[in-house]
Amino acid sequence: MKKLILFLLLVPVVSCSSDDEETFCIDLSLGVNCSGAEYIKNSDSSYVLPWEIGETFRIGQGNCTNGSHSEGSYSQFAYDISMPIGTNIHAIQSGVVLRVVENFDDVEDGVNDVSLIDEANFIEIEHSDGTIASYVHLTKNGALKKEGDIVIQGESIALSGNSGWSSGPHLHFQLNKCIDTDPRENYIWYSCNSIPLTFKNTSEHCFGLLDYNFKPEGYTANSF
Ligand SMILES: [Zn+2]
Repeated sequence: MKKLILFLLLVPVVSCSSDDEETFCIDLSLGVNCSGAEYIKNSDSSYVLPWEIGETFRIGQGNCTNGSHSEGSYSQFAYDISMPIGTNIHAIQSGVVLRVVENFDDVEDGVNDVSLIDEANFIEIEHSDGTIASYVHLTKNGALKKEGDIVIQGESIALSGNSGWSSGPHLHFQLNKCIDTDPRENYIWYSCNSIPLTFKNTSEHCFGLLDYNFKPEGYTANSF
């Protein structure tokens, strides 16, 4: 009986619907992902995971958590991907490098100081549809591209790190849609809102990537 109860607790309430044009998954389970958020099925997504094909990483923090990705915040649809400093970061989509910051030192593991939010290294890439991908907490001098460079989906663009407001080595990643903010003037990675995101080159994740509590084996980047 105990096993059955555990099983029921671990299985999210799922409702998938489809029409001729698009297929969405709608999360009905509070506490797993953002309530009411619509994620495009990964088989319909145009994005790939931001790491090398064949590698597997766990999600340290998913969407709409009680932590820094809280529901309604600019990072509600962000992912924290646990990975060692120096891991190659790959572009989720083709685009143009909008901004690079790479002059800050990595912090000690476990520091987790919110006052360091403006001392994170990052690279941002603008896609043809106007969305902007933010790859944050890069290691010092970890950008492999410069502003204005054209990047191709899947290309290596940066090295991960532990700079800024971070509790340990990881990549904070979010896809932004800037509605009221001009991304070119005084833009910084947390001035626009994150949007729900799925990836086409990994196992099914109807409600976005789930954190290690729900997906302890992590996600493997497959060829695409
Ligand atoms: Zn984060």
